Amino acid sequence: MAELIVQARWVVTGIKDRHTPIVIDDGAVLSRDGVIVATGQIDDMLKLAPTAEVRKYPDHAMLPGFVNSHHHVGMTPLQLGSPDHALELWFASRMPARRLDLTLDTLYSAFEMIASGVTTVQHIHGWMPGGYDAIHGAATKVLNAYRSLGMRASYCYAVREQNRLVYEADEDFCARLPAPLGDRLHHLLKSQALPFDDFLRLFDQLSDENVGHGLTRIQLAPANLHWCTDDGLLAINEKATSRGVPMHMHLLETAYQKEYARRRTGKTALRHLHDLGVLGAHMTIGHGVWLNGEDIDIIADTGTCICHNCSSNFRLRSGLAPLNVWEAKGITVGMGLDEAGINDDRDMLSELRLALRVHRTPGMDEDEVPTCAQIVKMATEAGGMTTSFGNEIGRLDAGRLFDACLINWTKATYPFQDPDIPMLDALVQRAKTGAVDAVFINGEIVYEDGRFTKIDRDAVLSEIAEILGKPRSPEEIERRELGMAVFPHVKKFYEGYLPDEPLQPFYAASSRV
Ligand SMILES: [Zn+2]
Repeated sequence: MAELIVQARWVVTGIKDRHTPIVIDDGAVLSRDGVIVATGQIDDMLKLAPTAEVRKYPDHAMLPGFVNSHHHVGMTPLQLGSPDHALELWFASRMPARRLDLTLDTLYSAFEMIASGVTTVQHIHGWMPGGYDAIHGAATKVLNAYRSLGMRASYCYAVREQNRLVYEADEDFCARLPAPLGDRLHHLLKSQALPFDDFLRLFDQLSDENVGHGLTRIQLAPANLHWCTDDGLLAINEKATSRGVPMHMHLLETAYQKEYARRRTGKTALRHLHDLGVLGAHMTIGHGVWLNGEDIDIIADTGTCICHNCSSNFRLRSGLAPLNVWEAKGITVGMGLDEAGINDDRDMLSELRLALRVHRTPGMDEDEVPTCAQIVKMATEAGGMTTSFGNEIGRLDAGRLFDACLINWTKATYPFQDPDIPMLDALVQRAKTGAVDAVFINGEIVYEDGRFTKIDRDAVLSEIAEILGKPRSPEEIERRELGMAVFPHVKKFYEGYLPDEPLQPFYAASSRV
């Protein structure tokens, strides 16, 4: 029985409302085998557990560990040669990316996440070639990488049944390309295909194999409306409901996806999902930039969650999501770094600030714009609700799993911070990753003073440098040529795709100013 007491100058156990964190001054958290037993003053904790290991952080704020609610890959697309395009073109530009062993790749971004205070990630995997066994092997590597580092992960393998490159059938798109190019592309897209039943079989197998692993859980992910058939969506929803796991689904990330839904269903993508009966608290919509007012009401009424991917929306020219409207409607909104944050890393502290600033619309009413407490809630408790860990994470309350980060006040605020600014407001706006001194996950310390306790980061990074420092393999060279040749055809596909109305997400349409 592992008992641990962690004391800090401030313990932020959770967020009471959008203006108010719950803070225990000189507080302490007692955990037993990774589960929080009690919070309060250290003397009371010692009475409950006199022989517990005690760790003291007298100059720190302890926050619930952050949840990155939307993540896909380790090395960033930019690192691997893909610049920021509009999303639909960016898919094509990613075709030439180098392949890296998934253990190393997963660890790479996990290091960045944990160093910025993230303790749980929603890993939405996909695009693996080679059929069922290869995909199962890839998923296992990703899961084992998180387990070995001591990081909590909610894992799903995204279901893509169709329209793998553009918003039409693979066969139709490939048939319109010049013959050798069309054939080569078709071959590549086919290598990523999996019979629908195998997606559910993969979920079942990974779930069975995950028994006994406390850090990882398996859930489901219909990748996006254009990637799924209605029958597929219904089957995934049935599986999710019967197994009691959540789903995460990209939706309405771009105006092109809004138009795709109109062409396919004659209504909005969200209304279509609602009519299919797949919305609810078990469903998280990733992005949702192009939701309209009625869509947002449906989301609020059904208790559906949203994941806000602020950096990604900027980088891939998706648009500005109506976060302030979501908040006003009381929707559960998590926060996702997606492929990479605004600085091409996975810095959650930077993402908090971005979301805080971006939605400061003109006006004077403070209730209209994000608060620091609200942003922290998105990145902790609300984010947790979008994962398979639900309300077992996201707060430092008795009964929840002990995941926390310790932020060094002096490092964050040196040489001065006026006390008129509340502690959490100062940290959200000023703390950089260098101030994250310790991270606990499942009651274990996994990161301390810039070092990971279970894996040698320097060794992993140097292995990555060595592998990717070698020239491209013949397969990588061929795929790069294919990607570059296909790119202009993808761009051509979307010419004239949108109706003539101006590109205006609901956020802009609803602005008073
Ligand atoms: Zn995504």
